[in-house]
Amino acid sequence: MKRVGMALMALILVVLTLAPAGRSQAAGASIVDPSVTYTYGVLTRDIRELAAKYPDIVEYKSIGKTLYGRDIWAVGLGTGSATVFFNGSHHAREWLTTTLNMQMIEQYAAAYAENRKFEGYDVRDILSKTKIWFVPMVNPDGVTLQQTGLQSFPASVHKALIAMNDGSRNFKRWKANAQGVDPNRQYDANWEELVNNYYYPHWMGHKGTAPMTTRENKAMIAFTYEIDPEIAVSYHSAGRILYWNFRTPAANVARDKRLANIFTAFTGYSQVSPSYNSNGGGGYTDWFIQKLGRPAFTPEIGVKNGETNLPVSAFGEEWRRNKKIGLWIAQEGYSLWAAKNKTTVKPVSVFLDGKRIDDDLAAFNEDGATFVSYKPLLTSLGYKLKWEGAAKSVTATGDYGTLRFTLGKKEAEINGKTVTLTAAPRLYEGVIYVPVRLISQATGAILTVYNDTGAVSIKSPARVTPEPEVPTVPTVPTEPVEPPTEQPPAVVPTPEPSEPAQSEVPGEVQPSGSGGEDVVPGTVVQPGA
Ligand SMILES: [Zn+2]
Repeated sequence: MKRVGMALMALILVVLTLAPAGRSQAAGASIVDPSVTYTYGVLTRDIRELAAKYPDIVEYKSIGKTLYGRDIWAVGLGTGSATVFFNGSHHAREWLTTTLNMQMIEQYAAAYAENRKFEGYDVRDILSKTKIWFVPMVNPDGVTLQQTGLQSFPASVHKALIAMNDGSRNFKRWKANAQGVDPNRQYDANWEELVNNYYYPHWMGHKGTAPMTTRENKAMIAFTYEIDPEIAVSYHSAGRILYWNFRTPAANVARDKRLANIFTAFTGYSQVSPSYNSNGGGGYTDWFIQKLGRPAFTPEIGVKNGETNLPVSAFGEEWRRNKKIGLWIAQEGYSLWAAKNKTTVKPVSVFLDGKRIDDDLAAFNEDGATFVSYKPLLTSLGYKLKWEGAAKSVTATGDYGTLRFTLGKKEAEINGKTVTLTAAPRLYEGVIYVPVRLISQATGAILTVYNDTGAVSIKSPARVTPEPEVPTVPTVPTEPVEPPTEQPPAVVPTPEPSEPAQSEVPGEVQPSGSGGEDVVPGTVVQPGA
């Protein structure tokens, strides 16, 4: 009996010891645990783990430090050009909204990684068009004070904090930052008119002596201008209500009301009437609506439970009501962005060895410059592709050498040598496009750009061998003219490969370094392979 008991004890001990370590390592295990008190420490650890687990899609950075040295973390989810912005915990005791932000990040990232839909939303498509930025904890000092009390703050400020807390050592009702300023009464939106103000540092309701003076607010303003979001959602608690209008200009009311109605339909939260809310001001949502002229929302999650945080047991139901909001807002944000970013993009066809690359938009011409989608082409040419999310770089490795380029950067590397491109690789509708010449430069392929249709014909290096091929490019004219915009490169590393009598004018012949010669003959690659 005794032995069995000891063995059982040992087994239980082993299980207890293993459990925490296995939490995030087991495949499919969640990182974010909504059942815990979501502290600044938990937040920081979870953000790092999410970025490590989903490097293609999750990035993070500090947008500022609080007075007590805590980072105000921002987490980016997605690769799109359009952006939307979510945040939580402006108010200290409302930290269940941090959990909500984090749960969105993990659930959407997991769906993206597993290439599955989430509640009917095409996560891959949405996140390739829109990047969702989160600041899950705007006020980490305040949250820490609310959760742990004075122990997390230097003894020298305890007296002051107790005074701001009306003499109490119980900080469970705390809303302000750790200087006793309310971060959601600090924004420059009718700040002067704010009533019900405490004119001294206080656990709630003190708007400060001037707008935009706290570190939290300065960080949020600078970050908003940096990411330029189409829509913002600031989560608060509690009351299951939705703020959507703050002296909204008449021209924007219908646009914003439509979104508010959908928000309400998803969450069941009731809309706060514009006339009631016009008395407020100083909030992030107020500021965003007023200064950016774009839609912004303040949902208050959970049922009111007095002057304290919501219990973690409230999370499940609020998550159920809000789980689609992030993806839906991202989708709406993209529509707003796309309406403003109409370019003179003209789709053009791409032919590789006479076969058309069958892709949504294999290439386009924009103001005379031709961009191709690098993926189908390089894959067809046998390259292995690696995307580094943090660096926004693609490394392609294949028989013709290596190529590395970075989104938004004109400098690329071909076989370790830096080359300058005519234009930087860029995103269009969530897909990365590169100047077409980069492909020929890197692979040694023969490139022809036709003047009239803009069509691009690429002859893979494998076929730069004797067999006299008659090009069978369907819609391309037989007498192409000189390519219009592509300039010959300054440096031609090796002589042009001698081709048998050409029935098409090569736009550019750019064997790069050792390319061309070492090619395995007969590798006629099928597009879309
Ligand atoms: Zn609040």
